[in-house]
Amino acid sequence: MNTDANPALNQLKQVFGYHAFRAGQQEAIDAVMAGQDTLVLMPTGGGKSLCYQIPALLLPGLTVVVSPLISLMKDQVDALRATGIAAAYITGNMPGQQIQDTYKQLHDRQIKLLYLAPERLLQPDFIYRLQQLDVSLFAVDEAHCVSHWGHDFRQDYCQLGVLKQQFPHVPVMGLTATADLATRRDILVQLDLQQPFVYQGSFDRPNIRYNQLTKYQPVKQLKDYLSQQDGSGIIYCGSRRKVDELTDELRKAGVNCRGYHAGMDAMLRDQVQQDFIRDNVDVIIATVAFGMGINKPNVRFVVHFDLPRTIEAYYQETGRAGRDGQAAEALLLFDEKDAARIQKWISMNDNPERQAVELQRFAAMHAFAESQTCRRQVLLNYFAEYNAHTCGNCDICLDPPRRFDGSVEAQKILSCIYRLNQHYVSQYVIDVLRGNMLDVIVKNEHHKLSTFGIGRDQSDAYWHNLINQLIHQGLIRVDITQNAILKLTEAARTVLSGKQPITLAVPRLSLKVKSDNVLG
Ligand code: ADP
Ligand code: ZN
Repeated sequence: MNTDANPALNQLKQVFGYHAFRAGQQEAIDAVMAGQDTLVLMPTGGGKSLCYQIPALLLPGLTVVVSPLISLMKDQVDALRATGIAAAYITGNMPGQQIQDTYKQLHDRQIKLLYLAPERLLQPDFIYRLQQLDVSLFAVDEAHCVSHWGHDFRQDYCQLGVLKQQFPHVPVMGLTATADLATRRDILVQLDLQQPFVYQGSFDRPNIRYNQLTKYQPVKQLKDYLSQQDGSGIIYCGSRRKVDELTDELRKAGVNCRGYHAGMDAMLRDQVQQDFIRDNVDVIIATVAFGMGINKPNVRFVVHFDLPRTIEAYYQETGRAGRDGQAAEALLLFDEKDAARIQKWISMNDNPERQAVELQRFAAMHAFAESQTCRRQVLLNYFAEYNAHTCGNCDICLDPPRRFDGSVEAQKILSCIYRLNQHYVSQYVIDVLRGNMLDVIVKNEHHKLSTFGIGRDQSDAYWHNLINQLIHQGLIRVDITQNAILKLTEAARTVLSGKQPITLAVPRLSLKVKSDNVLG
């Protein structure tokens, strides 16, 4: 192709040294160059930055980039300067003289790209200063920060609508990697984008296989899983304490692993991160604090030991697997009790608006975990990416749930809970069902119950799975106010009396072996 006719492609080659645009880049650049507002939705690593950096080089005036994190700004500006592009940033903690120097360069038109945090941009005297300059484009990175729906809401971002008021003829481009429909709508409204061009990139990561397992003996399950893996992996836990405990356990079991959380010394954290990147450590056990800005292409698996609170978090975290495009796996260990606990925490939030938002976001994550249909479809649907085909690369597609008449099994469980006066946690119910002569059971004389041992023929995991299904179907309720004891609901009555048959899925107690991975 003749690059003369395509100045954007010319810049891509000459300045950035790349051969071709990635999906969406050319379209977004064309829209900006035509003066249109734009919204770019692309997953992390999709190449959002070039969508404003190339216009910045082609447009006559200044491009102002709004970015929430100083560290990201610095990295970007350093990288741009290294390629010979006149870029700068201003932050509040810079020496006054340096800020003055930058202002001077701006007035002398020596800077093409200026990175700023929103609080600086929004200062009235700064807006006034910008009006004296020739601004060609505003790019708002991490645009989901405008949204109350977002995971990263920032008050300052909400005021960025002022840009359109003060600079009605300057195009504004929003960019984000996370945008369900509600967030997307908020971005369009808050930034006041006028008949924008919207580029929606695909969020699909086809090389990641999504798996879920019912969590019943998580440490053992995890050890089994790890023994089948080779290569690097990340295990996400819900708390620092759990990170520490699990790291201990796995180290004792001979796993080459390290813990990582925000409570650790910064130097140590850095060291752990480096060791992981250099493949000196196979497995990182971490809180959500781990992973931001880490680019390790060969992470083969990501395990969620605890249930995340949102699909965005889950997507970001699992997205750290398989960046090299090779087969990778995500494993979610799911326990209905975790879900009940999270719901309870969220309900304790005393801001009712926030609470409603978080409950809805969690409900979507919960539905993903419980899904009986292609998990990838559920995930992509959340990002408003409709896909007519099931994926063939998730646990549900590879091992579809089989149904059976579970009336008798359900009656065993429900009557056992009933005989135990609805006063025990699921493990205890299972021990009674399976006829385990534990001291506590004998002491409570529960070995004399008619339900003692009626479930001897099946494993713990089997019963655990069925109990979860009965919870989903609304026959059992987890009473989180009393240490997660199991209670019967009104609906359990008709099943117990045999009036209402019930269909259950055959429990899936292990994953299909890794060698079936379609890409493997
Ligand atoms: P995002 O902001 O969407 O997470 P970046 O803009 O940081 O992604 O881009 C991710 C990586 O992809 C960067 O290393 C960037 O240089 C590279 N990249 C972007 N566009 C292209 C392209 N057209 N060809 C090759 N590499 C690209
Ligand atoms: Zn699928």
